[in-house]
Amino acid sequence: MDYLEHLNEPQREGVINTEGPCMIIAGAGSGKTRVLTMRIAHLIQSKNVDPFNILALTFTNKAAKEMRDRIEGVVGTEARNLWMGTFHSIFARILRTEADKLGYPSNFTIYDTDDSKSLIKNIVKEMGLDDKVYKPNGVLNRISGAKNRLISWQEYLRNPIYKADDESAMKPELGNIYRTYVDRCFKASAMDFDDLLFNTNVLFRDHPDTLNKYQQRFQYVLVDEFQDTNISQYLITKKIAAVRQNICVVGDDAQSIYAFRGADIQNILNFEKDYADLRIIKLEQNYRSTQNIVNAANSVINKNRAQLKKNVWTSNDIGDQIELLKATSDNEEGKLVASSIFEEKMHHQLTNNDFAVLYRTNSQSRAIEEALRRMSIKYKIIGGLSFYQRKEIKDILAYLRFVINQNDEQALRRIINLPKRGIGTATVDKLVVAAYDHELSLWDVISNIGQFIGGRSANAITQFATMIKAFKVETERKDAFEASSYIAKNSGLLRELYEDKTIEGLSRYENVQELLNAIKEFVVNPENEDKSLGAFLQEVALITSVDESDKDNMDAVTLMTIHMAKGLEFKNVYVVGMEEDLFPSQMMLSSRADLEEERRLFYVAITRAKRRLYLSYALNRYRFGRLKTCEPSRFLEDVDPEYIKVNKLSRSRDLQVSTNSNLGYTKNFINSVKQPVNQPTRKIHRPSADFVPSDISKLAEGMKVEHAKFGFGVVTRMDIQGANKKAKVNFENHGEKTLLLSFAKLKIL
Ligand code: ATP
Ligand code: MG
Repeated sequence: MDYLEHLNEPQREGVINTEGPCMIIAGAGSGKTRVLTMRIAHLIQSKNVDPFNILALTFTNKAAKEMRDRIEGVVGTEARNLWMGTFHSIFARILRTEADKLGYPSNFTIYDTDDSKSLIKNIVKEMGLDDKVYKPNGVLNRISGAKNRLISWQEYLRNPIYKADDESAMKPELGNIYRTYVDRCFKASAMDFDDLLFNTNVLFRDHPDTLNKYQQRFQYVLVDEFQDTNISQYLITKKIAAVRQNICVVGDDAQSIYAFRGADIQNILNFEKDYADLRIIKLEQNYRSTQNIVNAANSVINKNRAQLKKNVWTSNDIGDQIELLKATSDNEEGKLVASSIFEEKMHHQLTNNDFAVLYRTNSQSRAIEEALRRMSIKYKIIGGLSFYQRKEIKDILAYLRFVINQNDEQALRRIINLPKRGIGTATVDKLVVAAYDHELSLWDVISNIGQFIGGRSANAITQFATMIKAFKVETERKDAFEASSYIAKNSGLLRELYEDKTIEGLSRYENVQELLNAIKEFVVNPENEDKSLGAFLQEVALITSVDESDKDNMDAVTLMTIHMAKGLEFKNVYVVGMEEDLFPSQMMLSSRADLEEERRLFYVAITRAKRRLYLSYALNRYRFGRLKTCEPSRFLEDVDPEYIKVNKLSRSRDLQVSTNSNLGYTKNFINSVKQPVNQPTRKIHRPSADFVPSDISKLAEGMKVEHAKFGFGVVTRMDIQGANKKAKVNFENHGEKTLLLSFAKLKIL
């Protein structure tokens, strides 16, 4: 069995011990995903488990596909029968089968974030509330947070804690908006992303027979990236695995980066409590990266307090030191990155695919893109405005959605006057209200419009309804491709785009053709049994941006946010925008826990690199339309200086002030490059106006501290007897000082 050969001892243990609960918690690049993949191959190959009985949950559909391909390499085409995918796609599939038990039709629509937001906007308007107070984004986050913690609207309204919370936030109506939102989704036969998990939990809670069916079916449950599951996801997997207890989760607490979306690191800790006979496996050898990268990553993550101790090492080459690129502006940063990629390609015979540029927020891609374009380096952006989010694509999809589900309020709003047929928003509002008041479906109202509205718009609506009915008939007879081509043509959408001869118009027309190509591919793909339009729409609704990149195999540099890069690896990685307020992100920093989450994000970024890592920052950057001066990120100081290469000019200067101290080195370097060369080097500490002393009652001997004036030092003695509490601190550049603690501007590091 040669698939077992390329595994070390603990990895093999994770693969062959297939029975009972198992948790693999290990550092980045230690082969967690490989173990999970081979465990599945082993189940099929050696334990004769039917692939139909295996459920594997991954972070993206692309990851699932890669795993499936690997497994197919070992066991053959049987692997196609595996149930593998993201939580959302797997449970959408199950919900489609079981929809009637929840009062939903099986062709329910999946609302994307835009649909959800625009529905919330309508509701806020209808309730006569202030849309500046009840912003769609904020309201949706609140609802989403509740759903992910399995709090129904009933519970939300009942619980005085939420009420008090909302009242103090001056948003007392949130609970009522939540209620109306759920009701409207239900009436539209639509579920949003969170509903896919929420409703699965409801299904399993209220229908033990259904739960039992899936418990029998999924004899083995496996979860990758377990650290980023939320409580709702955790409960689903736990329920499914409750009978056989063959559950294997793999993850890395140091890479938990989705707390802001409700992911809960507690799941790892609970797992130990929930399964008494749990097998815990640790993997410590990293196979991905050079020693320098592994050690640098370790030095960073060690700065976090909240973590499970791991000792990650590698027997790979030492490799090159991390390079720091400093730029005067974001545009220059782009240029430095692009030229570095160019040179690296030349010198090391690399292809574009070997490179990734990672950033904290999508807006940073612009400068990088421009520079790459100028140097004719091909790139692809993952995330941002994706293909399926373009207006013309959403328009067509809305038509297709409405033909499948005539209760889909959001789709209706999009298409009812597209192309223009004289039905205004006021009329649509009337339709929705009429449906609401009479407890009817939207379609009931539309197809009997005469009873509700008269006049010109009634005629237009009747024509619209007749057209949709015709489309429905066609759809029942045709596969997804034939049906959507028919609808694109006969709705008038394609013609309208065709007649627009501007460059943008042309590209929109081409995009729609591209969508039709994608549908064709879906239909001819032998892996898709169900070739109906409904099946295609479900798949599209659950495409993540990472999945999309799979569509083209062109040789291109990958640009994406660090969040998206989870689980991936590239030979050369550039982490750009290493600046205070940007990374760590100012918006995310309200507590130490938030800072630690940002630091984990940095750890994820570093550990994507196989052979070379570059960190870059700019001293000036346009943000929110204004040029701002930036300071290098504090995270640069987290990297042990041993692993960072400093350019020659700065190095000589650094070495004068810094000895072997871990603290001073990069910091000195950073400060030295911040200074114009002809000015004397300033004090090595960062003279920040917002110097906030931390709680000095926690001060103890041996602690590293920063003083607003004296810079960095180590506490050598504490004298806390009597009224004047004192500390002796040995400062790197000012020698030993005795400080009165009631006055000292000290920060514990
Ligand atoms: P992450 O935490 O980033 O998700 P991971 O722990 O899932 O990482 P993998 O992606 O499974 O790690 O493995 C990292 C790299 O090391 C991959 O290229 C994989 O093929 C390789 N690898 C893993 N185990 C071994 C091994 N025993 N021998 C050789 N290469 C290995
Ligand atoms: Mg992995």
